Amino acid sequence: MAHSITLLPGDGIGPEVTKATRTVIDAAGVDISWDRHRVIGQTAVERGRPALPPDVIDSIKSTGVALKGPITTPVGKGFTSVNVQLRQRLDLYANVRPCITLPGVETPFEDTDLIIFRENTEGLYSGIETYDERLEIADSIARITKRGSERIVRFCFEYAKEHGRERVTLAHKANILKKTSGLFLDIGREVAADYPEIDFDDAIIDALCMNLVMYPEEYDCIVSTNLFGDILSDLTAGLVGGLGITAGANIGNDHAIFEAVHGSAPDIAGQNAANPTALIQSAVMMLEHIGEVAAANAINQAVTEMYREEETLTADMGGEASTSEFAEALADRVSHHTGS
Ligand code: ATP
Repeated sequence: MAHSITLLPGDGIGPEVTKATRTVIDAAGVDISWDRHRVIGQTAVERGRPALPPDVIDSIKSTGVALKGPITTPVGKGFTSVNVQLRQRLDLYANVRPCITLPGVETPFEDTDLIIFRENTEGLYSGIETYDERLEIADSIARITKRGSERIVRFCFEYAKEHGRERVTLAHKANILKKTSGLFLDIGREVAADYPEIDFDDAIIDALCMNLVMYPEEYDCIVSTNLFGDILSDLTAGLVGGLGITAGANIGNDHAIFEAVHGSAPDIAGQNAANPTALIQSAVMMLEHIGEVAAANAINQAVTEMYREEETLTADMGGEASTSEFAEALADRVSHHTGS
């Protein structure tokens, strides 16, 4: 039976990279019935609709899974980020971002293999902000809850256990932020006690950033609160070759959205020049999530081979291929592996 999946192509390079990703998924022979929603974000606002139309939420609630391209957020004005709204409305509390060196991609380090687990719904992104006009003071509340901390740290340990990972590092700033980061650290230590088979340590965020750009190979799973996790995941994306190849997933108890770490890249949109690898790798995570493990492995293997052989790569990776040429070459390899 076909899997029902919501497809949000998004804007900027979104439609190009989602089309490329579908070509590759089709080549893997996975039967998917896509529920596509193109009117979202700025496109929806221009048509007098909410930036996050209710039919999009209804679709994801019904399918349980979405593949999503980037959706532009206006800076400093306009509507609240659709990306943030989706995570909060669907309670997608775990943002998972693997950063793994691909063979053939030139980076300062050869064997980075780590995953960032970012709490996705609270902390400084809780949306509790005020501005006192008279005093000219702005405040943002970094709300950390016991429940929110417990579930993200447990999610990280469960993921580590399932994927044979050996170590979890909790990133915090509990020396200064004694209440918020302090609570996250205390809960982290309590949860870690339930997983004696997995090594646990904690690190102060600033020292961790320095260590990550010097010895990334020492890290395995890193769990943190929303803002620290956001910054850490871009930092570690840089360690393995940048935004063109870094995948991501937003997972809750009932729903999950798979999307690349990069944004809508307006500077290269519409030119058939974007690297679709990040969304394709996000789709690999999605296929694992829906139980299509053989197809996920076939795509992963084909991506690794293409990079190892430095064949048909896009401009950001030093190649000359367009988005669609990359997708077609990858699809050929995937069909070869799956026999489809
Ligand atoms: P946002 O605020 O939505 O994150 P941004 O402009 O800060 O947007 P991106 O849209 O991710 O960030 O783009 C940052 C840079 O990386 C741009 O120069 C863009 O062209 C490049 N880039 C991002 N994604 C890709 C991709 N898939 N392929 C090639 N280059 C990319």
